[in-house]
Amino acid sequence: MARYIGPKCKICRREGEKLFLRGSRCYTDKCAFTRRGYPPGTHGRVGRRKLTSYATQLREKQKVKAVYGILEQQFRKTFTMAARISGNTGENLLSLLERRLDNVVYQLGIASSRTQARQLVRHGHIMVNGKKVDIPSYLVKTGQEIKLADKQKKNPEVLKSLEERDLERIVGWLKIDKDTFTGTVLRYPKRDDITLPIQESLVIEFYSK
Ligand code: SF4
Repeated sequence: MARYIGPKCKICRREGEKLFLRGSRCYTDKCAFTRRGYPPGTHGRVGRRKLTSYATQLREKQKVKAVYGILEQQFRKTFTMAARISGNTGENLLSLLERRLDNVVYQLGIASSRTQARQLVRHGHIMVNGKKVDIPSYLVKTGQEIKLADKQKKNPEVLKSLEERDLERIVGWLKIDKDTFTGTVLRYPKRDDITLPIQESLVIEFYSK
């Protein structure tokens, strides 16, 4: 499945907030948004224009796609799936996005960004209940064990990421055993588990037109 490979920091600058797309760099003073918080491009310094309601909805949708690193076709497919599940479509959408295997690997701290997590999954380094799963969009289920393949346990990037990840930052629906590189899905994610400033109602309005 295709993915966005352009500059990530420009997305944060365009959306006007830190989206933490580049791992540990986002927590340092090298962060481009910290240094240049205005939009990219020649007229970026002029300031942000007032957006129409359509543009506000569009920007919110683009932001959510950028956070989870997926393109329009797959995002729309996830939205359709969320609309078919009973309950609040916006919350269903966020729950489905959170349950993606690449996101889970990132949230567990095995990778420092969703991009790195996606690469670990695509290269077959992640096991779910003892079986290799190399599909980043795979949706995890309650009770499943997510484990790093043995040959990657000395990967310096993984070790650095796990060392830097504060256990406080592990979301409540997941648990990690750092010694065995194994995470467990305790339950499905709820709205409160998602701390990024996302207004899912704007995404729903965008697709409801
Ligand atoms: Fe965004 Fe800053 Fe991370 Fe770049 S370094 S992706 S601007 S949060």
